[in-house]
Amino acid sequence: MSDRNYLLLTPGPLTTSDGVKQAMLFDSCTWDEDYNLGVVQSIRRQLVALATQSAGYTAVLLQGSGSFAVEGVLGTVIGPQDKLLIVNNGAYGARMAEMARLMDIGHRVFDCGEVNEPDVAALEAVLKSDARISHIAMVHCETTTGMLNPLQKVAGLAARNGKTFIVDAMSSFGGIPLDVDALGIDFLISSANKCIQGVPGFAFVIARRRELEKCAGRSRSLSLDLYAQWRCMEDHGGKWRFTSPTHTVLAFAQALRELEQEGGVAARHRRYQANQRRLVAGMRGLGFAPLLDDALHSPIITAFHSPQAPTYRFAEFYRRLKQQGFVIYPGKVSQSDCFRIGNIGEIYLQDIERLLAAVGQAMYWER
Ligand SMILES: *Cc1c(COP(=O)(O)O)cnc(C)c1O
Repeated sequence: MSDRNYLLLTPGPLTTSDGVKQAMLFDSCTWDEDYNLGVVQSIRRQLVALATQSAGYTAVLLQGSGSFAVEGVLGTVIGPQDKLLIVNNGAYGARMAEMARLMDIGHRVFDCGEVNEPDVAALEAVLKSDARISHIAMVHCETTTGMLNPLQKVAGLAARNGKTFIVDAMSSFGGIPLDVDALGIDFLISSANKCIQGVPGFAFVIARRRELEKCAGRSRSLSLDLYAQWRCMEDHGGKWRFTSPTHTVLAFAQALRELEQEGGVAARHRRYQANQRRLVAGMRGLGFAPLLDDALHSPIITAFHSPQAPTYRFAEFYRRLKQQGFVIYPGKVSQSDCFRIGNIGEIYLQDIERLLAAVGQAMYWER
C-alpha cells in the first residue's frame, strides 16, 4: 500500500477532508447522550433540513452501505398486496429489481437501456395498464453511466397517479439541490460516503412521516427494518437499535459542518458542475468521448469510451494514473467498453487540471 494519499476520482468512498478524517479520533459511547442527543439527533435534523423546509419529514440512519438502506426501504415500505414499478437504466436500478425478487416483493421493471433516459409517456402507459402498481422507485443519478434521471418528470407522474415515490439519491443528495416535499418524494435514500463527503459506514433515509408510520411490522428483515430503527431513534433520543458506526457518525457530523461552510448544497453543486465540465472538455481535448449525450450528464461522474487502440488496456492506464496520484473507476456499463471518472469529494478545479495533465502522461498506447 502506498503511503501517499491518492485522490479518489470514484463515486464513493471518496477523498475526504483532513477535518473529516480527524473527527474520527474520538471514541463515543453508543448509549451516552453526548453521542445520541448531541450528535445523532442533530444529524437527523440537519439531513431533513437539507432535503426540505416541510415539517412532514423525518430522517432514519441505518448501519451498512447504501444498498442496505435501499433494501431496508423496499423491504419495509412495500406491503404484501403492493406492487413496485422499478425504473431501470443501470446497475443500481437492476440491483433494486434483484432485491425485490429476493424479498418476494411484487414488482415490474421498466427497462430504458443504459444510455437512455426514461420515456415518461411510456412509463405513464405502464401505470395506466397495471392498476396494482402502488409504488415507483427510481435512481436519481445512475452512477453506472453518470446519467441524471428526470426526477421532476417522474415525480410529477407519481404524484398525478397517486403512487408512493422512492428515490435512490445515493450519489446526488447533498450535491444537487432538491426539495423532497415540493417533488412529492416519499422516501429518499442516500449514504454517508457520497456527496455529503463523509466516510463509509451508514446510510440514511429521508421519509415522509405519514408514509413511514404505515410501515409497522411489514419488514422482511430484522436488522433492515426501517420502521423499527426509526421508532428506536424517536423513542430513545437518537439511539440506534444495534451497534452504530460511531467514528463514521462523528466524521459525518463534521462533513455536514463543512458542507455548510462551503455555502450549502447550491455551492457544492456549482463546484461539482465546474469540475465535471472541465473534466469533459479536457478529456475531449485529449481525444476521449463521453458515453452519454451532454444533456444527460450529471455533475457527479462521467463515463468515457475506452480508446480503440489495440494496445490499450484499462489496467495499465489505471496503474499509470495511480502512480501519479489519481484513482479512476472501471466501467460498469455492459454494452459499451468504458471507464469512469468521478469528480465528487474533496476535489477542486486545480485537481481536475492536474488529473488532465496526468491522463496526457498516461496515454501510453499508439494513436
Ligand atoms: C453508491 C450507490 C449505491 C449504494 O452502493 P453501496 O456500494 O451499497 O454503498 C446505490 N445507488 C447508487 C446510485 C449509488 O451510486
